[in-house]
Amino acid sequence: MIPFNRPAVTGREIHHLQQALKEHQLSGDNFYTKECHKWLKGKFGCLQALLTTSCTSALEMAAILADIQPGDEVIMPSYTFVSTANAFVLRGAKVVFVDIRQDTMNIDETKIEVAITEKTKAIVPVHYAGVACNMDVIMDIANRYKLLVIEDAAQGITSQYKGRWLGSIGHLGCYSFHETKNISCGEGGGLFINDEQFIERAEIIREKGTDRSRFFRGQVDKYSWVDIGSSYLPSELNAAYLFAQFEMVDAIQQDRISTWNRYYKLLQSLEDEGYINLPHIPPDCVHNAHMFYIKVRHLEERTALTSYLKQMNISAVFHYIPLHSSHAGLKFSRFNGEDKYTTVESEKLLRLPFFYGVTEAEINKVAASIHAFYKI
Ligand SMILES: *Cc1c(COP(=O)(O)O)cnc(C)c1O
Repeated sequence: MIPFNRPAVTGREIHHLQQALKEHQLSGDNFYTKECHKWLKGKFGCLQALLTTSCTSALEMAAILADIQPGDEVIMPSYTFVSTANAFVLRGAKVVFVDIRQDTMNIDETKIEVAITEKTKAIVPVHYAGVACNMDVIMDIANRYKLLVIEDAAQGITSQYKGRWLGSIGHLGCYSFHETKNISCGEGGGLFINDEQFIERAEIIREKGTDRSRFFRGQVDKYSWVDIGSSYLPSELNAAYLFAQFEMVDAIQQDRISTWNRYYKLLQSLEDEGYINLPHIPPDCVHNAHMFYIKVRHLEERTALTSYLKQMNISAVFHYIPLHSSHAGLKFSRFNGEDKYTTVESEKLLRLPFFYGVTEAEINKVAASIHAFYKI
């Protein structure tokens, strides 16, 4: 069986885990967490980076930092993971979905401005497949209406928009280190803070609403409850594992990009013949080979292709039932404007097996099977 995903193991993880154990450091914000913060700041140039237990946690922190109140509105695409919406719904917000672009599956930046009302507080662009949203247009709208931009860069580590790293462009950026992402520690995430005003409060929210971080730095002589918050910091074991992956980021990325390019080359003729569409990378974007998807002609074809691949022992998956049509979405959201692409395009999309270390033979087999499906 060629699995859809296999978590990356680079070989260095066990060394760093043993170091953490030797130092008797298990709880968060010790040596490895600090090393990870330093590495993220150094590499991506955000003002502050904080490890969290997941991207979901980072999004929840962002919603608190944005001071979202009941009745506030937050604009995002409906084609995204539930956490993008949930984080704001937990604070009482109404989620306002706008349509996506057909070419990148990202939020259609031309549909955002008409969705803004007096209640709008934030825009949440999701960089699908690690391909950037049109951030120039989004930041310009946000500046004109004084809105916050919270990037869901869960899939976007090492991707760029006009030379800038994803997650470092908006006021806040959220990363995921879940095992399905390029760089992972099983479950983990990160919050990038790109606006000075959020730095101090973010530390407090992440430490259960206490000023414990200031206490550890010797800035206060005891720590106490100062704000709302929760336990958003990961253990040192997760940070140690993650640090090993940071050290190997170039090797992981090189491998993924060559996998992506191989898929693209092997499937191009099927696109030329009009059977499928391949991912589109706009000229301003450098992508990170987070996933490889194809788009088939319609839902029935996707169902048939998925089961054909399964017979060939290949696991291909699709994702994201558009949130506005889900049970919770009906309760907590509205869709502004026409759903021209969100539903139909999501029904065409199929993700192919993609992970660090997938072999050329495996990629060849997947591509050959897709060719066979269309040519039999
Ligand atoms: C994976 C993902 C998340 C959630 O990440 P976790 O670390 O699992 O909480 C959120 N948004 C998007 C777009 C994702 O792909």
